[in-house]
Amino acid sequence: MKGRAWSLLGVAALAAIPIMVRAQEAGYPITVIAPGKGPYTFPTGYQTPWDKIEIMVTEKMSPNLFVLHGSQGLDPAHPDASGGRAMALFGPDGVLMVDTQNRQVAEKTLQALRTFTDGPIRILVNTHVHGDHTGANAFFAKQGALIYSQDNLRNEMLRPPPRANGQPAPAPDMAGIPVATYQYAATTSGQPAVTFNMNGETVDFIPMMPSHTAGDTIVRFRKANVIYIEDFYRNFGYPFADQANGGSIKGMLDAVDLIEKLAGPDTTLIPGHGTLVKKQDLLPYRAMLVDIMAKVKTLRDQGKSLNDVLAANLTAPYDKTTMGDTQESKNRFITEVYDEVKDFPPVVDGKRTMPRHP
Ligand SMILES: [Zn+2]
Repeated sequence: MKGRAWSLLGVAALAAIPIMVRAQEAGYPITVIAPGKGPYTFPTGYQTPWDKIEIMVTEKMSPNLFVLHGSQGLDPAHPDASGGRAMALFGPDGVLMVDTQNRQVAEKTLQALRTFTDGPIRILVNTHVHGDHTGANAFFAKQGALIYSQDNLRNEMLRPPPRANGQPAPAPDMAGIPVATYQYAATTSGQPAVTFNMNGETVDFIPMMPSHTAGDTIVRFRKANVIYIEDFYRNFGYPFADQANGGSIKGMLDAVDLIEKLAGPDTTLIPGHGTLVKKQDLLPYRAMLVDIMAKVKTLRDQGKSLNDVLAANLTAPYDKTTMGDTQESKNRFITEVYDEVKDFPPVVDGKRTMPRHP
């Protein structure tokens, strides 16, 4: 048997299995196309030209574990490489996908996948709710994928929070909603909710504490010694906790600390955006979160308004080492911290009722 048996193990069974940290397969990972470095500027009113965006194999993590990502310089939401990384584990047992890229490039994502496998697409796991990671869910469900996620992600999709301008979000496409769900629990933090043994690999879906959103999952590939860590860490632009979808800057610190425990020194960490990293690369990011939270809290405790805190330009010491830093990305980060250090609303149904700032 070469990993042909499908097994779904419960958390209780897994707790007893020691996780071996293995050496990476010789010669991997291979970066085929690195993300761009910028700087990028887009004129006012610029619209993403989806027809120009290509989806390509950008990294190979093992002989049968590939990463798909988009073109640089075209998508203002993610100018270094369009959309969020998707992954595919492939082989005789079919395809397991992590995330699905933007809806507008669904057909191209499938074509890119078909350059290396003609296997059936069986399993899909969503790392978080954002459209650059779940946009083509319905498309891939129609290809046969069974979609897994945290319960909170399903709730965020079924009953989305209002948009930043207060307008209600559009109704979801029911075909793209996860059907197999699980929950995060602090008492079992770091343990997989689901494990797949297929194509010679062992894949763990590990639910995360509210961090980038309240529905995050990281995905560990034990043999390849790789963890897809999605968006609670980023190295292009300032940190983003989507608090309306239950995210938390403090939770992002906890997420970094969990990776410290789960990853070995050589484990390749795959963020949703930016460059591939190792766990020691997360430490300056962690230090920045701690520093900014303390400074914003001090100012807010002194009664400073959000505008006062923004004007203090607290991110200035980090601008030189933060690729893709924009005023918008700084302001968003500082506003999140300001909202979090006092009267931070709780997560209800995967979401938080955040204050609106004019
Ligand atoms: Zn993303």
